[in-house]
Amino acid sequence: MIKLPGLIDAHVHMREPGGTQKEDWDTGTSAALAGGVTTVLAMPNTKPPIFDVRNLDLALASAKEKARCDYAQFLGAGPDNYSDIAGIAHRAAGLKMYLDMTFGQLRLDDMTLWQKHFQNWPRNMPIVAHSESRSMAAVILMAAIYDRPVHIAHISLKEEVLLIKAAKERGIKVTCEVCPHHLFLTRDDIPAISLGHPGRGEVRPRLASKEDVGALWANLEVIDCFATDHAPHTLAEKDGEDPPPGFPGLETLLPLLLTAVSDGRLSMDDIIQRSVINPRKIFSLPEQPETWVEVDENAKYEIHAEDMKSRCGWTPFEGWNVKGRLRKVVLRGEEIYRDGKILASPGFGRNVRS
Ligand SMILES: [Zn+2]
Repeated sequence: MIKLPGLIDAHVHMREPGGTQKEDWDTGTSAALAGGVTTVLAMPNTKPPIFDVRNLDLALASAKEKARCDYAQFLGAGPDNYSDIAGIAHRAAGLKMYLDMTFGQLRLDDMTLWQKHFQNWPRNMPIVAHSESRSMAAVILMAAIYDRPVHIAHISLKEEVLLIKAAKERGIKVTCEVCPHHLFLTRDDIPAISLGHPGRGEVRPRLASKEDVGALWANLEVIDCFATDHAPHTLAEKDGEDPPPGFPGLETLLPLLLTAVSDGRLSMDDIIQRSVINPRKIFSLPEQPETWVEVDENAKYEIHAEDMKSRCGWTPFEGWNVKGRLRKVVLRGEEIYRDGKILASPGFGRNVRS
């Protein structure tokens, strides 16, 4: 049995408010515990999106009532909220900027809006950018101009990891995360994930080429964090007319990483650096006293969605053989997970920004 600190997942979608058929603060934080994650940072693209004090209060009220692990909630950067949200920044995990795809009310049409957010958001609070490829290059330039840190969400491409490497070498304050599905899957896996339902293979950023995945592994020292981008959608939605992109990931993160340790591709220290130490530093998260997870590093099992706590009911890793199983989670001295059973009550989790 190996003991690790409680993991931090800096990128999850709890779907509450507005998408509770997919997940809510109860099932989402249960999935976190079943993955050895004791702190989650929730993204703001809910319905309604979390882009003002009213909606922040709405999300935090649900979290306070239901969360079984610790949490914080991101605020979203919208076209006209850059001055209003500065005063509530200390209550948020950070500012999330969506710079590529259109996310309804969180769309930032031009770079003058990016600048306004960089100027107004408090300097001691994190900024996270969903920015792929060339827009990633643009937001790194913006970070350099304003001389403040920016964290790049879910990098997936060779050109991205190499650009971040070059930026870091020149002292630009950029950090980044990579998702397990971009480390362990390539676009060649899409047919096996889809099983005739193309929507199941849809995720943003898309699954990349073998060369891209190889570049992520070859430049692991550039990658600051592992984050799941846990983005649950029901199978009915994934198999429907207009399938939404996204994979669930909280419950497969640790077994996939432990399997990579067993295969000699990662060390335990690589996991602790990227899933605990670096996210704690980047997002200024408090220590969790008397908190740890226990794993049986030799236990082999098959991944099945039917064993999972997430409400979405599927996983792109269905049927995968993994080595390394979570046995126990202790948070603040209380055993809150053991062998597949969630022992924490709803509301046990704390807002780490309160
Ligand atoms: Zn996301």
